[in-house]
Amino acid sequence: MKTIGLIGGMSWESSAEYYRIINQAVARERGGHSSARLVMVSVDFAEVEALQQAGGWDSAASLLADAARSLEAAGAGCVVICTNTMHLVADEVQAAVTIPLIHIADATAEAVSRAGLPSVGLLGTRFTMEMDFYKGRLVDRHGLAVLVPSETDRTTVHDVIYDELVHGEIVDSSRHAYLEIIDRLVGLGAQGVILGCTEIGLLVDDTVTDVPLFDTTRIHAEAAVSWALLS
Ligand code: GLU
Repeated sequence: MKTIGLIGGMSWESSAEYYRIINQAVARERGGHSSARLVMVSVDFAEVEALQQAGGWDSAASLLADAARSLEAAGAGCVVICTNTMHLVADEVQAAVTIPLIHIADATAEAVSRAGLPSVGLLGTRFTMEMDFYKGRLVDRHGLAVLVPSETDRTTVHDVIYDELVHGEIVDSSRHAYLEIIDRLVGLGAQGVILGCTEIGLLVDDTVTDVPLFDTTRIHAEAAVSWALLS
């Protein structure tokens, strides 16, 4: 088994999910007392969030590139950035190391394509829903049609992430709001919805809607396990 390298802390609420899902997947595949070989560098989310607000993407790239170098030095064989948003600097992080970066949008697009759904909705932070680094990759590299919510709905989705989910607060009225937004995306033609923020799976999952959901945390974590066990 190869050693997975995680850049976590964005937020730690979802990094904990990565840790749990990765270990559960290894135990399922290997049986017995098997668990994952992994190293994690966990950053201070306050620093990252301040850089996001300020548009300090170069500084954010340096911070995550340093984290990736630490992972490689610690023996990790791959890099997993445990957030969709910070894939905005994925190219800079990849350039800092010789080990491969497992890109969350690629893993997710492959899962969507396997499900045979060419048109999907995308929920995430404002950065993920509005900037091109993520949506553009799904469209240009993977040929998906991607729908994002209206401006008002994007504000709701973004604010719930930063005001509640990254603090581990799960609020019923926010779940209800998300389900309405998911239904509106379906009304616009989405056949499924990408939960393109690693905390959204804490709020909605397939027990509360019939709409096919693609939880990027689970997909990304399981892609890392496939890499560790099969490549
Ligand atoms: N974890 C979130 C994501 O997947 C948002 C937190 C962040 O800004 O990194 O985008």
